[in-house]
Amino acid sequence: MPAGLKQKEVNLPTYEFDPKTNLKLRNWFVQEKRDLAFRKNRTPYSTWVSEIMLQQTRVAAMLPLYEKFIHRFPKPEDLAIAEEEEVFRYWQGLGYYSRAKNLLAGVQKLVNEFGGKFPKTLEEALSLPGVGPYTARAILSISYNLPFAVLDGNAKRVLSRLVLFKESGPKADPALQKIADSFLNLDFPGDHNEAVMELGARVCIPKPLCNECPLQNDCLAYQNGVQESIPEMEKKKKEILLNIRFYILKTKHGILLIRYPERRFFKTIYSLPFSFEGKNPYDSDPVLDWDLKPSDLGIKFKHTITHHKIQGFVSETELDTKSEKKLLENFYKIRPSIEIKYCNWKNLETEFPSSISKKIKQTLAKDGAVLPGLEN
Ligand code: SF4
Repeated sequence: MPAGLKQKEVNLPTYEFDPKTNLKLRNWFVQEKRDLAFRKNRTPYSTWVSEIMLQQTRVAAMLPLYEKFIHRFPKPEDLAIAEEEEVFRYWQGLGYYSRAKNLLAGVQKLVNEFGGKFPKTLEEALSLPGVGPYTARAILSISYNLPFAVLDGNAKRVLSRLVLFKESGPKADPALQKIADSFLNLDFPGDHNEAVMELGARVCIPKPLCNECPLQNDCLAYQNGVQESIPEMEKKKKEILLNIRFYILKTKHGILLIRYPERRFFKTIYSLPFSFEGKNPYDSDPVLDWDLKPSDLGIKFKHTITHHKIQGFVSETELDTKSEKKLLENFYKIRPSIEIKYCNWKNLETEFPSSISKKIKQTLAKDGAVLPGLEN
């Protein structure tokens, strides 16, 4: 069909694919697939780790971290007995620490309740913490070759374009899952899923490279010349601008770090206490109700967390035993679930494993700020 010709709108819950389309896709994948570390010696566990790491993270950024992680925790049994803080250290650079926390909880359940062997049913796989429909389907198909079609962002884009399916967003997922199920190559479900996602990552990208695509002749969006406008863009979440002040509170035990699950950011990791400044929709850490006046170090840095554009500031002060006790009493009163620990200046990045700690250090070093008592 010539490009530009108006095609009847397609809004199908299922779609009949020509088996030759599957074959073309698989041949392309076999020849073109990237030689990625997580594709070697695949086990359900290594697939699980790689799939969780790849959520929200680009392959190039994830690969070195994946290799280090698997080297340190080669089997589920090694990860299951690890301390959460060590796991977080190996997660540093990937962000979204709740993923690491859930992975650890999921692997502990796998070892304790399934003898370390990843289950083979969707229902049992979904019973593991941190394993949602996408991850379960990916592990079952890629590691056991079971017939489950996966649907990540890349797969959704490819499928929507192939059949000219225009809707997007969570409401469109059930229909897209049916399309994915109809397209699944039942002889090679694992390869098929990886092929769809690989095509979406490298060829059927937002500005698609249709001339390099093995499915060009099968693609309704291409035939209609509308490939760039499918799927319809989801409305972006409104950006929220935040000013956040971080506090370096020096005590005789070291720099104070806190965490508690109710706060907006860093729910799972320890961080320097922080407060929001100016207009904002969130509660601050309970650091403001105190008599001490921390000094502003006069530095600024920028950071982004999802749709939050953050301007960061830093203050510091020294707490003697009495004021530390008073501060902690206040913390526990306002946030009973709060946990505390101490770090030193050298290991701030490993103990507060967010790129924010690195930015604070780098900005201070660049501005030549003097921080008495923080050399160690
Ligand atoms: S022809 Fe273009 S739009 Fe269609 S699947 Fe291939 S890359 Fe995507």
